[in-house]
Amino acid sequence: MDTQMLIGGRFEAGTESEEHILNPKTGETVADLPEASHAQIDAAVDAAEKSYLAWSMTTPGERSGYLLKIADAIEADADAFAALEALNCGKPINAVRNDEIPAIVDCWRFFAGAVRSMTATVAGEYLPGHTSMIRRDPIGIVGSIAPWNYPLMMMAWKLAPAIAGGNTVVFKPSEQTPLTALKMAGLLAGILPEGVVNIVLGRGETVGNALINHPKINMVSITGDVATGKKVLAAAAKSVKRTHLELGGKAPVIVYDDADLEAVVNGIRAFGYYNAGQDCTAACRIYAEKGIYDRFVAELSAAVSTIRYNQPDDTENEIGPLISKRQRDRVASFVERASDVKHIEIVTGGASGSDNGFFFQPTVIAGATQEDEIVRREVFGPVVSVTRFTGEAQAIGWANDSDYGLASSVWTKDISKAMRAAARLQYGCTWINTHFMLCNEMPHGGVKQSGYGKDMSVYALEDYTAVRHVMINHG
Ligand code: NAD
Repeated sequence: MDTQMLIGGRFEAGTESEEHILNPKTGETVADLPEASHAQIDAAVDAAEKSYLAWSMTTPGERSGYLLKIADAIEADADAFAALEALNCGKPINAVRNDEIPAIVDCWRFFAGAVRSMTATVAGEYLPGHTSMIRRDPIGIVGSIAPWNYPLMMMAWKLAPAIAGGNTVVFKPSEQTPLTALKMAGLLAGILPEGVVNIVLGRGETVGNALINHPKINMVSITGDVATGKKVLAAAAKSVKRTHLELGGKAPVIVYDDADLEAVVNGIRAFGYYNAGQDCTAACRIYAEKGIYDRFVAELSAAVSTIRYNQPDDTENEIGPLISKRQRDRVASFVERASDVKHIEIVTGGASGSDNGFFFQPTVIAGATQEDEIVRREVFGPVVSVTRFTGEAQAIGWANDSDYGLASSVWTKDISKAMRAAARLQYGCTWINTHFMLCNEMPHGGVKQSGYGKDMSVYALEDYTAVRHVMINHG
């Protein structure tokens, strides 16, 4: 197992306090990894600074070549990456190997292509005797901070557009899930010029805080909690850094009476519980119309009670445990408070899923109303609430009545109704008769307190580059 950080061309262990890296399936310690010191963080930033000029002057074609090599190397070592991610996150091996790794490899390949085909306004004489042209140039040194729910994928989403755009990076994985990032350190050091990507370990309040406040870092990209995003903004305000924020979500799912019941039940069984619900787009806040509500609740709870987890043969598991005891206890406390509410019924699940490890039973909560905590707050666990509604206006009003604005979905056979909803929903994404599906060509990102800045797609490449105007006087 790789345990060392990457600073310039050197592999080093941190010198500060150790973080216990756990196997969430058992609660056992897998490794103890010390975090970076201030001197090591400075050295990583200096290495990024030193490599910036040469890297930013490479051609898009050259950078594309590096990204393709990275994609190929991950693909060639896919089984080992998958095993490590499964170990550190508790994910079922098939989910990482068959869903995540191909999407990660494709992300690197997408940006390898995208950087060679960026477009802008035509150059021309917008003032007589002067030619104007638009450039898209890198921003400089990016401080990149990732969460624990999809560690290797978040790394790809952040690094690929940043380095494709000509930036250099200091990357910090979540202190809970650094193992695949450390494996990537070896892979990247073998492919990229020294200092283009540096990887430091540590907690948010120490190493993360040092990065977001670092005077030489020009842009901070973070995926995490809304509260963390606000800290990034406060820090960025001091030196006017560019920020790219992907924060939480509480995705509304509108199920109209005319929806295909079987499709929606199968869809929520999959997309409400994938990754044990630790997904900011999870289909967790269902609004079911009054005519379909009773059948939907009955069929969804029957379907959810069959979700397989904590089986000795991991290839049978559909979901894993939560990332930590703290996260499991947090999820349990949401469900406990919901069960104390008179009009709420826990129809499936509702308890921890084992004595060992951090499992929680896939849970369906019915009868919740718009004001209930379980409808309003992000749980980030395998818990879905169902609320009854009457009429389109109420459904869309309730769906939009949230501080979050990341993802949403609408389930109906009436395309006009679906398009009316898609036009009015205040979310970065609206799916119709599906949920959760992502592709590297399309943007992922929020509005409102879910943040701003897009991952994947050409829009991410735009976020990691600055638009500049060059004007030539014909004299
Ligand atoms: P978190 O905010 O606690 O941590 C995210 C990262 O930020 C970690 O690397 C952490 O060390 C770092 N961090 C924490 N405090 C910091 C500080 N003061 N300064 C600098 N860095 C700091 O979030 P988490 O618990 O790791 O992840 C779960 C959250 O992420 C959920 O709220 C989820 O909705 C959100 N999320 C959002 C998206 C999205 O695309 N919008 C995707 C995945 C997860």
